[in-house]
Amino acid sequence: MSCIFCKIVDSTLPSYKVYEDEEVLAFLDIGPSNYGHTLVIPKKHFEDIETTPGEIICKVVKVVKKIGLSIKKSLEVPGYNIAVNNGAIAGQIVPHLHFHIIPRYENDGLNLWPQGKYGDGEAEEVLKKIKIQ
Ligand code: 5GP
Ligand code: ZN
Repeated sequence: MSCIFCKIVDSTLPSYKVYEDEEVLAFLDIGPSNYGHTLVIPKKHFEDIETTPGEIICKVVKVVKKIGLSIKKSLEVPGYNIAVNNGAIAGQIVPHLHFHIIPRYENDGLNLWPQGKYGDGEAEEVLKKIKIQ
């Protein structure tokens, strides 16, 4: 078993655990984007969101909500980013599904998403491809 997050789950690797229940674990990110950056994972190994059963995703997301509320209160932040890097192309380095919770502070300088603009007809074109009927 070479997955580092599985090793964190079974405590072969140390971590700062923020929350734990039977199926979900939350712990501090070792390389925080901001003070309090937390990761939430299913304890069972699933590589990404597509391969994780819906019920497990629901349980993980409920914990994301719990941690978000707690972080807002305890760190006195007005908000936080929730992010999943799904697949290597999207920046997923650890192939065990995880939700990032990144507390946001006034003027913290984090700029996560650059915004673009659709050219003529592009929105309609992409919509045709991805719309689910
Ligand atoms: P990804 O790029 O896969 O979405 O994010 C992986 C995250 O895991 C990174 O933010 C990285 O800092 C964190 N990480 C990688 N290895 C470890 C580790 O051994 N312990 C902890 N706590 N976090 C880790
Ligand atoms: Zn794993």
